Amino acid sequence: MERTVLAAIAERPDADTALAEQVRRVGAAMGRLGVQLRWTYRVQDALAVIGSDASLAGMLADWDAPGAEQSLDAVLRRFRGLPVFLMTAEQELPLWVYEVIQGFVFPLEDTPDFIAGRIVHATEEYADRILPPFFRALRDLQDHHQYSWHTPAHAGGVAFLKSPVGRAFFDFYGERLLRTDLSISVPELGSPLEHTGPVGEAERNAARVFGAERTFFVMNGNATANRVVGHHAVARDETALVDRNCHKSLQHALTISGARPLYLVPERNGLGLAGPIPPAALDPAALRARLADHPLAETDPVYAVITNSTYDGLCYDAVRVAELLGESVPRVHFDEAWFAYARFHPLYARRYGMAVTEETLPGPRRPTVFATQSTHKLLAALSQSAMLHVRPAERAPVDYERLNATYLMHCSTSPLYPMIASLDVAAGMMDGPSGPYLVGEAVTEAVRFRQAMVRLAGRIREDGRRPDWYFGVWQPPHVTEPGTGRTVPFAEADPVRLAADPACWVLEPGAAWHGFQGLSDGYCLLDPVKVTIVCPGADAVAGTLGWGIPARIVAAYLRRRGIVVEKTGDHTLLVLFSMGITKGKWGTLIDALTDFKRAYDDDLPLAEVLPGFGPPAATLRRFCTEVHERLRALGLGELVNEIFTDLPEQVRTPADSYQALIRSRTERVPLDRLAGSVSAAIVVVTPPGIPMLMPGEAAGPADGPLITYLRALEEFDRCFPDLATDIHGAHRDGDGRYHVEVEVR
Ligand SMILES: *Cc1c(COP(=O)(O)O)cnc(C)c1O
Repeated sequence: MERTVLAAIAERPDADTALAEQVRRVGAAMGRLGVQLRWTYRVQDALAVIGSDASLAGMLADWDAPGAEQSLDAVLRRFRGLPVFLMTAEQELPLWVYEVIQGFVFPLEDTPDFIAGRIVHATEEYADRILPPFFRALRDLQDHHQYSWHTPAHAGGVAFLKSPVGRAFFDFYGERLLRTDLSISVPELGSPLEHTGPVGEAERNAARVFGAERTFFVMNGNATANRVVGHHAVARDETALVDRNCHKSLQHALTISGARPLYLVPERNGLGLAGPIPPAALDPAALRARLADHPLAETDPVYAVITNSTYDGLCYDAVRVAELLGESVPRVHFDEAWFAYARFHPLYARRYGMAVTEETLPGPRRPTVFATQSTHKLLAALSQSAMLHVRPAERAPVDYERLNATYLMHCSTSPLYPMIASLDVAAGMMDGPSGPYLVGEAVTEAVRFRQAMVRLAGRIREDGRRPDWYFGVWQPPHVTEPGTGRTVPFAEADPVRLAADPACWVLEPGAAWHGFQGLSDGYCLLDPVKVTIVCPGADAVAGTLGWGIPARIVAAYLRRRGIVVEKTGDHTLLVLFSMGITKGKWGTLIDALTDFKRAYDDDLPLAEVLPGFGPPAATLRRFCTEVHERLRALGLGELVNEIFTDLPEQVRTPADSYQALIRSRTERVPLDRLAGSVSAAIVVVTPPGIPMLMPGEAAGPADGPLITYLRALEEFDRCFPDLATDIHGAHRDGDGRYHVEVEVR
């Protein structure tokens, strides 16, 4: 690791004093030992280095430097155990300072070489100490440069060097990655299949960091983690309660296990967003009534799975959900694909699976909790790296050997060690003060962006030269101050409070801005880092409005500007503020939205704004209006509500439907032959991203909501092929007609 030592000194680096001269010599001596000294003499510079330079491995702090206490405090909040050496003649320091510092240096009494040697030695120890267990073992092994006689056949990359194509690959990735791509037969690293050695240690470390009793590192994504849990927690023909807003991998889990699902249906709002499953739908009496009517369910439910947070950043009070569901099932699984950071910031207290503990939910009704996370989605890890966390309760004990037997069914016997290292490092990065610091940074940037968007509206209005700003952000318009009870507009709220107080982000029951029904106090929170930008044309309560700008056109414009959003709805765009966000990156987004609006206000030709897109003769404004009016006329929002108010009838379990599929007792039919058939596919339109048809479910009559809806989408896509709907499970033919896989009749 490259190592830097921060010097926070009372004098400038070129000062003509004995002290400065001596520190310059210390810096030169460090340089000879391969460590760089970064000299600051203003507190804001010291703070900027502490906040941004992760190669910091030590600090030389002058107690007389301006803001010395502030700098030390910042070090404490960002790093654990960073060696700090203090220069001072003072005898009595505040007690906490003694806890931060590693020792004192006396620049005018000790030699520069001695001081430099002492600090550099401490930085070496520090750089070694911070490594998590597996990554350390991998690195140590790498340092020994063993010859390998085992798989993978590239033997540390050497095989690639024998061909020009291989050489190009080798040069592209570099030797390191290939040297650490080792066979599972390397004993020094332990086994990820038996959870032994450094891998086992790394999993135990991750369990501590993420608050689990036991953690499994999962390769091949959170999709695999979901399949493992579903395959283990519910047996054939047993009943499972399944969030209808679930990822495909959970349908796979149901197929593999042979479970019989009862779906829990989330709320929707007028913007087309999926909300939470309301608490009343989790109530035991309500569930019993639905089970009594269920065409396939035969047993009491044994397992429930909930998506938390949703794609759009809605997170449950997980403790409350576990309490409610615990009345009906002994095992609750939270799919936290987008939520691995939740434990590391006070905003999300109680809102993630591993927060359900003996302390937060005492008593015999606490269920065993599983949480599955795509570590790679919102923490720093290689793609496909995921974790499965377990916190068992007495009523549904987890036998880890048996759980491991299921895990092995979904694992390769040749795991990729660099991926395991990245999981280990992701846990290491979240450990100690670093986790809250990194998540806090993302939250702070998101809050800045959210406030800037609202302020921009005010500034354009005051300026008066342009029509009003029309891009909104989906968030509470007001925030209530805790002391006074006064409500202040969102843009004027204290950003520090917005970044720290969950009360600012809770969906108050009945509030118009979110438009969801049936919520209770504190049940659901909007995660500030998942930002939904709202284009004109839809309202959370009223649905589609008379005038509007379809988000798909805005997204196409942004793409042309090099900005790719996470998800596009009819009138919404989702952007994520992850740990990879750099300060002010969002300025570019605001700039592009402003430019879009200028082009719209000036009614520029579409061919100029989006060359090669849409009808060549149109202007941007006319095109937006035409598309919006079509969306409105098709009444998609209302149709979606109908679909989810009355779910399709379940004819067969997902497992039985799958048997038909692999034995070719299914065919692809166009929409005009869909009526009365049983689906063999999962059909999902994003948004809302909730499956409208699962394998084994009836498509309903030709004039039913489902087929009417699919027809409307098909018509829209045929009119505007550049803006085609994001639909899975319906295949478009060359004519733009949808075809769905159904059972042969
Ligand atoms: C992405 C996702 C998954 C699957 O995770 P991968 O890591 O991509 O395999 C599971 N559940 C949800 C809700 C997701 O969004």
